[in-house]
Amino acid sequence: MASDRLVCRECHRVNEPDNDTCESCNSSSLTEDWAGYVVIAHPEESQIATEMQVTEPGAYALKVR
Ligand SMILES: [Zn+2]
Repeated sequence: MASDRLVCRECHRVNEPDNDTCESCNSSSLTEDWAGYVVIAHPEESQIATEMQVTEPGAYALKVR
């Protein structure tokens, strides 16, 4: 995954590079300053999704500054 993707500061969703707002929560608070990501396919069965309060399948950054 390219590092020029934008991550939402609100929900940590990894967005497409041309997104102006988060495709998950519609926040416009996006940042290129993030590290690591996890793909969550089944949030309801995933412990890390629970810890990150993720309810939608997708890619999420582990660290957002
Ligand atoms: Zn978001």
